[in-house]
Amino acid sequence: MRLIIMGPPGAGKGTQAKFIAEHFKIPAISTGDIFRANVSQGTELGLEAKRYMDAGDYVPDEVTNLMVRNRIDEPDAENGFLLDGYPRTLAQVEELDGMIRFTGHRLDAVMVLTVDQDEIVGRLLQRAQVEGRADDTEDVIRRRQEVYLEQTQPLIAVYKDRDLVIEVDGMGEVAEVTQRIFEALDIIPES
Ligand code: AMP
Repeated sequence: MRLIIMGPPGAGKGTQAKFIAEHFKIPAISTGDIFRANVSQGTELGLEAKRYMDAGDYVPDEVTNLMVRNRIDEPDAENGFLLDGYPRTLAQVEELDGMIRFTGHRLDAVMVLTVDQDEIVGRLLQRAQVEGRADDTEDVIRRRQEVYLEQTQPLIAVYKDRDLVIEVDGMGEVAEVTQRIFEALDIIPES
């Protein structure tokens, strides 16, 4: 199973990705998490990525693509993976196509969490205030949404053309959204 989960920042992709990945026994690969781990370990990749992340911008494609290529080459991703936060640009879509084609597989589906972006921004701003997250200023939060709309939202149409998109309402309680996703993917919940 090779899946992508998409949606604007704050839509709850990471949370839902874990449930889906667990069900299919595949790794949930979050490029944001890998970047953050590199930042906290102070690696060269982390130092490079941090500049962009702090501004709410995307890390350059070459850097991101190579990182994903290496990650999906790991043995645990041999039978599939769920990508959370990748691809985010058209160039990344093409690169991912190449990576998957090379292994003789295909992409099975692209889950899109649809949300009310204004409400999400409001929630993110509130969280940043409560948690005092210096890196999550209002400017950066708004910038991330802007970058998503400009560079990533157009990818949905690309995948729609390929009949891969499964849209799910991402608003509401976590468990409700999980249930909608499982229904859309035709997953029978384990009792
Ligand atoms: P996320 O946790 O997925 O929102 O990612 C956090 C940050 O990591 C983003 O705001 C970007 O700066 C960077 N990032 C994550 N994934 C990508 C990607 N596919 N392409 C470029 N930058 C990315």
